[in-house]
Amino acid sequence: MTDEPTPIGGRARRGQAPIACICPQCGYEAQKTAGVPCRSMTCPKCGIPLMGK
Ligand SMILES: [Zn+2]
Repeated sequence: MTDEPTPIGGRARRGQAPIACICPQCGYEAQKTAGVPCRSMTCPKCGIPLMGK
């Protein structure tokens, strides 16, 4: 299973903003706000910065 179609523009995820932000500690998920980095939001439970999903 190595005959994949030619990727257009490389990996699709590259340079793409995450669709959600997630807490690395408890798994809390928050909707991503466009233009707002996940790290600027904090988990309401843990109080730590969220990560891009
Ligand atoms: Zn958390």
